[in-house]
Amino acid sequence: MHLKEIDQTFVLHTYARNYVNFVKGKNAKLYDERGKEFIDFTSGIGVVSVGHGNKRLADAICDQAQKIIHISNLYLIEPQALLAKRIVELSSYDMRLFFANSGAEANEGAIKIARKYGEVDGKVKRYKIITLKHSFHGRTITALKATGQEAMHTYFGPFPDGFVYADSIDQIPDLIDDHTVAVMIELIQGEGGVEPQDKEAVQNLAKLLKQKDVLLIIDEVQTGIYRTGEFLASNLYEIEPDIITLAKGLGGGVPIGAVMTRLKDIFKPGDHGSTFGGNYLSTRAALEVIAILEELKASGKLDEHFIYFEERLKEIAKKYAALFEKEVGFGMMRGLRAKSAEIQGKIIEEAFNEGLLVLKAGRNTVRFLPPLTITKEEMDEGFKRFEKALERVAVA
Ligand SMILES: *Cc1c(COP(=O)(O)O)cnc(C)c1O
Repeated sequence: MHLKEIDQTFVLHTYARNYVNFVKGKNAKLYDERGKEFIDFTSGIGVVSVGHGNKRLADAICDQAQKIIHISNLYLIEPQALLAKRIVELSSYDMRLFFANSGAEANEGAIKIARKYGEVDGKVKRYKIITLKHSFHGRTITALKATGQEAMHTYFGPFPDGFVYADSIDQIPDLIDDHTVAVMIELIQGEGGVEPQDKEAVQNLAKLLKQKDVLLIIDEVQTGIYRTGEFLASNLYEIEPDIITLAKGLGGGVPIGAVMTRLKDIFKPGDHGSTFGGNYLSTRAALEVIAILEELKASGKLDEHFIYFEERLKEIAKKYAALFEKEVGFGMMRGLRAKSAEIQGKIIEEAFNEGLLVLKAGRNTVRFLPPLTITKEEMDEGFKRFEKALERVAVA
């Protein structure tokens, strides 16, 4: 049986899968089984933050695997404690963390923290959580219900109660009532189409929520760990959230999620847990990922590369004004807003034919989430291929 047939026979069809077979990677380059080279402007949807085949990360994982991969959370886990300390220090927030295995799970943790905060003497008093209409918070039943895209709620009900959707940040104050315990937002919506929120609007919202004792949950599953240029997008927006969730870029591809909160004593033993969450392997990997990115940031190279990437995208948006409305995003979380969904689809397809991986987001955005370690040479090669693809879409 051919590999494609095996996949289609035995794996559930949840993805519109492209049947390229990648066998090797080196930073922002990938190679398929025939040796064809691709430039990766996706990093596995913002996950492979330190690039493919990263030697330092591989060595750390290898070293840890030969010692202990997993014990359980019933015993002290050294890299877990050190990782929590490092994340708190770099974030500058006075918080504690809980480790999970994915973004959805991190958000489940955030929702549980908020719901517990809303309880008074064991009686549920406040439970409603306001989210945004084009948000994305994950695929578990509760995270899916928190996701404000009604089309995704067609099946799978009944869902947990208590989620309210706002059209925009500006509408949130009108939706707060006596039962509202939290607001959960992405500072830059990723899946929703690379949509940055207005900084001042977010700061005003944060102030209002503080006054009303409503918790602010920031879903940084995609924006966190230097993706936008700062360690957290919350740092970039200069706000002090009550709860922050992390996942994608944290482990460099090793599954890990985390929820951090200033409500340091909200959970008592037994309130929450995870078998795999925070084990030796994933937290050791995340420690190494953060060390690599910290050095890159301190060297000034990370910012240099962000600026270069942005400049090139702005040039392209201008040069191909027939295809694009504008360039959007921060750091290495960027998009080009295509004039239509059809153009978006064609660009992604032609880019692939040229040996370049880019993502879709929202209805009409071509999304770029390259590894944060991408080199100038890799960017140049990627954009060269991208322009070739655009030429073909433009004349078609
Ligand atoms: C990807 C994503 C999630 C879901 O993460 P999983 O690891 O797939 O569960 C949640 N929130 C945001 C903002 C994301 O981008």
